[in-house]
Amino acid sequence: MSDPLSSKAGPRSIGAAFAALAERLGVILGRGVPATATAGPEGVGAEAAFTPFFPAMLDLLPDPLILIQGWERQDAGARRFIYANNAARDLLRIQRPQAALTTAIRAPEVLDAVDVALFDDTPSQADYVIRGVQDRFWRASALPLPQPLGAPRLALLTLRDETEIRRSERTRADFLANASHELRTPLASLTGFIETLRGHAREDPEARERFLGIMHIQAERMRGLIDDLMSLSRIELSEHIPPSGQADMVSVVIDVLDALGPLAKTRSVTFQTRLPSPGEAVAAADRGQIVQVIQNLVENAIKYTADGGSVMVEVIGDLATADAGTAVGDLPARFSILTPDRATGKRYVVVRVRDFGPGIDRNHLPRLTERFYRVEGQKVRDRPGTGLGLAIVKHILNRHRGGLIVESGLGVGTRFTAYVPKGEAAGA
Ligand code: ADP
Repeated sequence: MSDPLSSKAGPRSIGAAFAALAERLGVILGRGVPATATAGPEGVGAEAAFTPFFPAMLDLLPDPLILIQGWERQDAGARRFIYANNAARDLLRIQRPQAALTTAIRAPEVLDAVDVALFDDTPSQADYVIRGVQDRFWRASALPLPQPLGAPRLALLTLRDETEIRRSERTRADFLANASHELRTPLASLTGFIETLRGHAREDPEARERFLGIMHIQAERMRGLIDDLMSLSRIELSEHIPPSGQADMVSVVIDVLDALGPLAKTRSVTFQTRLPSPGEAVAAADRGQIVQVIQNLVENAIKYTADGGSVMVEVIGDLATADAGTAVGDLPARFSILTPDRATGKRYVVVRVRDFGPGIDRNHLPRLTERFYRVEGQKVRDRPGTGLGLAIVKHILNRHRGGLIVESGLGVGTRFTAYVPKGEAAGA
């Protein structure tokens, strides 16, 4: 079968071969495009002058774009690439012009969409998933093209990368499902106890007191969860606005340790601190948010420390980016959860919170700041936690253009290092 669009090119690069085809394609399509016909003589001249640039222009497009030809519906092997721009050649690893369509695309939905465009003269769309280490989701659109007399049928296939949209939709759906589940559990418990109190516990003062105590804990749990959810959404809303205040990290740590003193006392946990003088560790920070960061880290440290143990909090007033972002290195595993953009000359205030609790296996470290992520098998008696504390920490530090490192080892404990840019007052 003769092929009016076939390349007579010798052994050139695939890009050049496609470009030659595209140049001819520009001429073919130019003839069929209505704009050319309706434009005045000036318009026609201007468009013709740009035709040689069509291939280069198409290669600059970020979305894969492919021109496909077909002869008859029954002849699947005759569906061939006539042109593929750079993005398409990279994505589909098209080795040569005129390759059969099925050498690069095997997804039946996409092939069907192309057939509809080619032979039914109707636009058609399909989802196209490219499986790999990380699946990528594309939206394929096949559009019929005007067909020159006696030539094969033509369709334009474009692919739009929807991976990020899908991922964020998924995250949102997971988040809603998790939040509802977390709220439903204490709610179910409350409902159950209300029934019991109305029923057989009505005349039993001892049981009533016990149940009311449990109901109080469950109600507190719901309140904590709602507080954390509200915090997280507030922080996300302001994440793109840099903080404008200054916070003396030493006074922040002292305030947090004072506030958590009673909790530590109930567990006989003692604090050890290594702090510079007030004024030597001033951060460019929203004080309220930084209090929340330190509070969440110290509260976790207390929670995962055995009764009678100790928690160490250290503040360092002035470190360069590389030093602030380097783990101490004395624990078996480390992971940098958040790293600020490297800006030369930037100085940081660093806070380290170290506990000697059960530690966290290295596999879990990258996932700790995911919403509702919890390390399986950890027993926490006092406060079940919301699974949102570290997510809040990460978002606040991100807003501050700061960083977060976790180091840990099973049986030897955990250290979180949070660092935020130094404030002006301290530099003065
Ligand atoms: P939670 O409210 O459950 O503590 P976080 O977001 O603060 O939620 O922490 C997420 C998970 O990370 C915790 O459930 C726990 O499994 C683990 N984790 C956090 N801090 C520590 C720590 N200091 N020691 C051991 N595990 C920790």
